[in-house]
Formats: sequence, structure tokens, C-alpha cells
Amino acid sequence: NPVLAIVGRPNVGKSTLVNRILGRREAVVEDTPGVTRDRVSYPAQWTGHNFTLVDTGGWEQDAKGINARVADQAEIAVDMADAVLLVVDATVGATATDEAVVRMLRRKKKPVILVANKVDDIQNEADASVLWGLGFGQPWPVSALHGRGTADMLDKVVEILPEFSEHGGIERSGGPRRVALIGRPNVGKSSLLNKLAGSDRVVVDPLAGTTRDPVDEMIELGGRTWRFVDTAGIRRRVHMQQGADFYASLRTQSALEKAEVAVVLLAVDEILSEQDVRILNMAIESGRSIVLAFNKWDLLDDERRRYLEREIEQDLAHVDWAPRVNISALTGWHKDRLVPALDVALESWDRRIPTGRLNAFLGELVAAHPHPVRGGKQPRILFGTQASSRPPKFVLFTTGFLDPGYRRFITRRLRETFGFEGTPIEVSMRVRE
Ligand code: GDP
Repeated sequence: NPVLAIVGRPNVGKSTLVNRILGRREAVVEDTPGVTRDRVSYPAQWTGHNFTLVDTGGWEQDAKGINARVADQAEIAVDMADAVLLVVDATVGATATDEAVVRMLRRKKKPVILVANKVDDIQNEADASVLWGLGFGQPWPVSALHGRGTADMLDKVVEILPEFSEHGGIERSGGPRRVALIGRPNVGKSSLLNKLAGSDRVVVDPLAGTTRDPVDEMIELGGRTWRFVDTAGIRRRVHMQQGADFYASLRTQSALEKAEVAVVLLAVDEILSEQDVRILNMAIESGRSIVLAFNKWDLLDDERRRYLEREIEQDLAHVDWAPRVNISALTGWHKDRLVPALDVALESWDRRIPTGRLNAFLGELVAAHPHPVRGGKQPRILFGTQASSRPPKFVLFTTGFLDPGYRRFITRRLRETFGFEGTPIEVSMRVRE
């Protein structure tokens, strides 16, 4: 989903606006500096468009200037966002704190919608127009409290958020294939990146790097160039107590959105922690192709290796379709195996099965394994088609609802028959009465 970040200083009505956008009375923690927020990200929807609303901390100007921690977090949220809602209190006008936020936003060059809040009636609209001076174009006068003007504002939001195409799959922009290297902290992402890039020119150091912007790196592998996306976040560890997990997730999500294939890095010293599972699931849900890489293989002895193989087989059964490579980012062992695995995954991801072949397959399958009869009825599959690739999505036209078990069976057979190794596939139904 596209991400909309909402920024503003305390008391401008940010939380009220969040509630208004969500259309429900969600318990949003007040903008009290220092108060821990359980959640800062919410699934939101407007006129059928889904997006993720990310609430940032309240910017506070104290004696030492802007509260650095809050500013840091908000800045990262803005980096990850596709667009920003800047909320200002129209009854107060732009304060020094607002202007500090404006300076930050101007550096980011993201689309900004300036929201003039607390415009409760027509008389207040003049207050809003003063905010043209902030340089973000037309201020959108709203009353978060009463809902006045928020519909128009949300239309505008939807207009500038990147469009989702329902049928086309993920766009292929040409150029090098785009890879997201993801995994929990310490799994060996930056070590692997250094090994792949062929030099240790970038140090594995939490303090390295000064820029906060996502950076892609072009890396030559197997005689071709690959684009590793958002590597700045890998090279430079961002250490924050509050919300660190959340921002790590946001980074992962953002990298996935830019990528075509995800290398999900796991490490054998601590396999499948909760965080590993979460990251893996994000990759699966993103619809990108996937390669699983098990790092730190150099640490294993034979006994532990056998144990681990069993554990992997059990715990990763739901991604048994993803190619697996065992590597050591430290020694470079097996690093050459990554490219063939990436090729396999991307090739599956791109693949289109001709309709004739697909229906021949479905015909044979259904003849050999008919759908079980339920209550005297037996749904039939009339016809199937691949609606998209990147990732492959199939639609089956049927005379009734297929059992989930039967649908899984068909999905599995599709995978085996056509060899969709390394890509998630989706099978949906259209029931024709
Ligand atoms: P990141 O947080 O995912 O970027 O992880 P780092 O690349 O910073 O690695 C975390 C730690 O694991 C460092 O101390 C690395 O030296 C170590 N490490 C990374 N890869 C390997 C590996 O293949 N084998 C061993 N033994 N240690 C590794």
C-alpha cells in the first residue's frame, strides 16, 4: 500500500484528524512528548483506495530546539512515505516549530498536502489562506473535529498517492533487476552487501553514513548489474529505542515495494525468531519473488546442521517453493549461488502460462481429481485464465464455490506443473450461477 505520513506539532489536531481519516474512534495516544505509542501505523481507505497512514510524533520546540528523537523518527517516516500531510492550526497560524517542519519537508521533496485544521466554519477560511505563505500551495481548510472539508482533502490525497493497477501486476520499469536484501538486525545484511559489492569500502559500523535518504547500489553479479534497493538503511544502523521495530518494518516494507525480488536473509545462529517470521511474511505478502538465504553457515558443525535442516523443513513448509541458498557472508562461501537463485525466482515471477495450456492442465486435473460432491452439488471449473504475472495470478470461472482444500490442491498442482519456483502465486474464483 502507498504510505501517507502525517506530521505536525502537538495540539494542531493531528490525532483528531487521524481518527477522522480512519472513520472510527481509534484509541490514538495523545501527542504528549515521551508517551510511548503502541501503534503509529493504520490501514486507511478512501473511495476504495487503500493506503497506510503513518502518524509521527508531535514536533516540540524546546530550549534546545526541536526534540531530536521525535524529529528523527518523523523524518524517517517521511522518507518512507509516498506523500505527507502537514497539519497546521489555522487559528494560530504558522509558528516557528511549523516552519522548522516545513524546512525539513522541503529537503525531502515529497508531495505535501498542507492541511489547515480547525477551520470550523466559513468565517475561519481566511485564517487558512494565510498559510499559502508556507510554500506548499493551496492550504486545505478542514475541521478534523466536525469533518468539514476532509472529504475534499482525502480526494486530493488519493489523487497524489501512487496508483495501483488491479490487473497489471507490478510494473517492470526496465533496467537492472531490483533486489531488496531484508532481514532482522545482525543477520548479516551489510556483511553480505560488502561481500557482493566486492570490497569492504563501506564499513559495518552503526555510525557510518550521514544521509538518511534511501540509497540504491548497483552491484555486478554473474556478469550483470543488479540494483540493490534502499541499501542506506542496511549500511547504516539506525538505533532508536522507541519504535525501532516499527521503523525497521517500515524500511523493509518500503524496500519490498521498490524491489522485484527479495533476498530474505536468515542466520543459523538464531533461526526463525519472531522478527524473522514477520519479515518473511512481509515478503510473501508483498507479492515479490523470494530467495531464502541462510547466512553464517560457517558456524555450523555436522550435528547442528542436521538438526537445522529438519527445523527448516518444518518451520518453513509454507515457503517450500522459495529457492534456498546456504551462505557465509563472512567467508564468501556460496555467494555465487545467489544469482542462479535470483534468476529462477524472477523467471517464475515474470512467467505467463498461455490460456490454452492452462485449460488443458485444468481439464486433465479435474478429470483425474474431481471436486468432492457437497450437498448433492459438485462445482465445476468452466475455464481458467492467468490474469497477471509479477506475481502470477490466476482466475478460475466456476459454477459454485470451491472448497478451500480443493483450491489449495489446484494451487499446488499449478506450482508443480509449471514450476513456479520462487514466486507466490494466487488463485481466485469467479462464480457464475
Ligand atoms: P546486519 O545488521 O544484518 O547488517 O548484520 P551485519 O552484517 O552487521 O552482521 C552482524 C554480525 O554478524 C557482525 O558481527 C558480522 O561480522 C557477523 N556476521 C555476518 N555474516 C556472518 C557469517 O557468515 N558468519 C559469521 N560467523 N558471522 C557473520
